[in-house]
Amino acid sequence: MHTRPEDIVITSDNSSRLCARTIKADFPVLSQDINGHKLVYLDNAASSQKPQSVIDELSRFYSEDNANIHRGLHTLAERSTNAYESTRKRVAKFIGCQNPDEVILNSGTTAGINLIAYSWGEEHINEGDEIVITEMEHHANLIPWVILAKRKKAVLKRIPITSDGRLNLDDIENIITDRTKILALSHMSNVLGTINPVTEIAEIAHKHGAIVVADGAQAVPHMPVDVSTLGVDFYTFSAHKMLGPTGVGVLWGKKELLDKMQPFMTGGEMIREVHFDKVTWAEIPHRFEPGTPNIAGVVGFAAAIDYLENIGMDKIRQHEIEITRYALEKLSKIDKLDIQGPTEPDIRGAAISFTDHNVHPHDISTFLDSKGIAIRAGHHCAQPLLRILGKVATARASFYIYNDEADVDALVQAIIEMKKYFGV
Ligand code: PMP
Repeated sequence: MHTRPEDIVITSDNSSRLCARTIKADFPVLSQDINGHKLVYLDNAASSQKPQSVIDELSRFYSEDNANIHRGLHTLAERSTNAYESTRKRVAKFIGCQNPDEVILNSGTTAGINLIAYSWGEEHINEGDEIVITEMEHHANLIPWVILAKRKKAVLKRIPITSDGRLNLDDIENIITDRTKILALSHMSNVLGTINPVTEIAEIAHKHGAIVVADGAQAVPHMPVDVSTLGVDFYTFSAHKMLGPTGVGVLWGKKELLDKMQPFMTGGEMIREVHFDKVTWAEIPHRFEPGTPNIAGVVGFAAAIDYLENIGMDKIRQHEIEITRYALEKLSKIDKLDIQGPTEPDIRGAAISFTDHNVHPHDISTFLDSKGIAIRAGHHCAQPLLRILGKVATARASFYIYNDEADVDALVQAIIEMKKYFGV
């Protein structure tokens, strides 16, 4: 069921391209018709589909190994624990981290950012300190910092965006100052597609003694990410956007920071010793993994990483640059359609937000669904950004490994039909 290197078509110009059609066959959900049309799934920034190998691994785990982890001494408990812990090692290797103890398995990006805001933030943020975010953050990397700033009477500052949806770094030396304690920014925007120069900005933040938190929810699924060279202190992402199960995610953090942090949630499995009047914590990563986690989901996540690695993250990135270039070119030719974000495919990902001058994004989405095309319409959990863009909503088509030019053609054709239908 895995895509093997032989599935990757080498084109005449020697650039390796993914054979999206072969990949598509590994995803059972994609073989269906929706409203009488072959499903074209373009809502990958919200959540990706799952290959058969991930579905099989979930079923295999529940059929053969299922037990709680880290506590039982019986065979199934041992197998479950080993499978769970081997995913931790698999994740560490996937993101270039040498020490798997720095990988905290949780329910997703949202959980990771909240953990840092409450745990690190509670201890280190004081009145008058500054927290720096950007104008393009998802609510998951925005609300925890708004609340922390309010709770601590700290100042929330933001890096603005340019008219073409990049970070405007002109004033960065005034935004990040010696008062800055945290810089939190997305690696790739879920609305604009922009890939932010995280390393460059992190260097400035570190010069001022701040820590850097990167939201990798849209980056890790789509491009190689190496936390050993990225230059951040914390990095978060979600399995469900990278072929894995829902309710599973990762917070990577530097050991020297995690070691000193207090737990955010307390309960079973995260302690060393408990008395009625005193509790001591377990070492990392268990200190930050209270209660029974999504064990099957974590085990299934390893199969998702296997699938991606079999293809190769470099090739996935290359595929998405090409499909983004094609989509931008085709969409930009449609009359009265505005596209958000950078126009150069090599500095952006394959999430493309657009609006029509006359048709509301929700109507665009409903019309496209009638043609079997799944996109997202709304504020994409980035209301402050949408306000800056002067929109209440956008339509967003987002591509992944199983999408190809035919999917872009179907999207473009359906938008043209929609315009005819609405007479605009
Ligand atoms: N950040 C970004 C940039 C996202 O796109 C998302 C998911 N839409 C999140 C954070 C939150 O991820 P999750 O819901 O999996 O916690």
